[in-house]
Amino acid sequence: MEYTRLGKSGLQISRLSFGSWVTFGHQIQNDTAKELMHLAYDSGINFFDNAEVYAHGASEEVMGKILKEAAWQRSSYIVSSKAFWGGKKPNQNGLSRKHLVEACHAALQRLQVDYLDLFYCHRPDKNTPLEETVFTMDMLVRQGKILYWGTSEWEAATIAEAHAIARREHLIPPIVEQPQYHMFHRERVEIEYHNLYEWYGMGTTTWSPLASGLLTGKYNQGLPENTRASLPDLVWLKELLVGPQAQKNIAKIQALQALAQELNTSLPCLAIAWCLRFHGVSSVILGASKSSQLKENLGALELSSRLNQEVWQRVEEILENQPKTPDFG
Ligand code: NDP
Repeated sequence: MEYTRLGKSGLQISRLSFGSWVTFGHQIQNDTAKELMHLAYDSGINFFDNAEVYAHGASEEVMGKILKEAAWQRSSYIVSSKAFWGGKKPNQNGLSRKHLVEACHAALQRLQVDYLDLFYCHRPDKNTPLEETVFTMDMLVRQGKILYWGTSEWEAATIAEAHAIARREHLIPPIVEQPQYHMFHRERVEIEYHNLYEWYGMGTTTWSPLASGLLTGKYNQGLPENTRASLPDLVWLKELLVGPQAQKNIAKIQALQALAQELNTSLPCLAIAWCLRFHGVSSVILGASKSSQLKENLGALELSSRLNQEVWQRVEEILENQPKTPDFG
């Protein structure tokens, strides 16, 4: 495993990390979750990602039990939660002081830890003053309940504003953003966030490197059973996977599969290595429902060290979606 500092913070994070969305407390059995966590940890992954909304809290409960039973040194791993979608009643969602504090306390209980290493604002909240959110996160850090805080899917301008508030008020700023980033969704990480890395020292922990399975090629011929997309409640994913955009992408996926074969690797490894190649990416959060998938995907790190610019150029030719750098002239 390789480690890097999360942005300009002192926190060292593994380049590959592991998340529990859809799987823990929902798609997979708890013993499989345990097997996956142990495989991840034994492979050097030190960051486990979670959120209050994942399986309505059950994902954190499952992870908490595994962490407790494993009794790994608390200093040897990083665990996160994210707040935004807690419940349907007023004050059970968003980024108000009330919800952030209550979500933090609930996550600490479910995960059975004394503090969260990372606490994310899962989405921006237009109904809460940004000052309230920044002050609350600062307070939680000073109380020792969280160590670092971040954002997820915020616009660059809002993150910059959060930094401006923090600087003005002598508060602790966010150090990390958690954006979607994969071969079919790249503009924000590669272009919009450009100045966040340079000016504010933000790191990123990116999600859905395989776009929930699409970039494995398993959906090229429809929707196989025993996959995430076959879950009855994931209608939105099904639509995404069989919609017009997915159809357009199948040809690209097939070309990428051929390239992966030529490189003596698999498409999942190539797709994850592609994420790792971008300098703004600190850690790529992997998801898996089977240990064979995670074992395969861990190979992306070694692959990324042996691929060169020439290969990435060939990927660009297949994708035909390189974002245009804005003309600042
Ligand atoms: P991926 O895009 O990598 O999708 C993971 C899924 O793809 C697996 O569960 C599995 O699904 C399938 N898969 C993985 N590897 C293979 C393989 N080698 N061969 C075949 N199929 C494979 O990541 P996720 O979408 O799961 O996202 C990763 C993490 O990112 C989440 O757990 C979460 O922590 C975070 N996240 C954060 C979000 C945010 O808003 N901040 C949003 C979404 C995710 P199956 O077995 O069912 O086919």
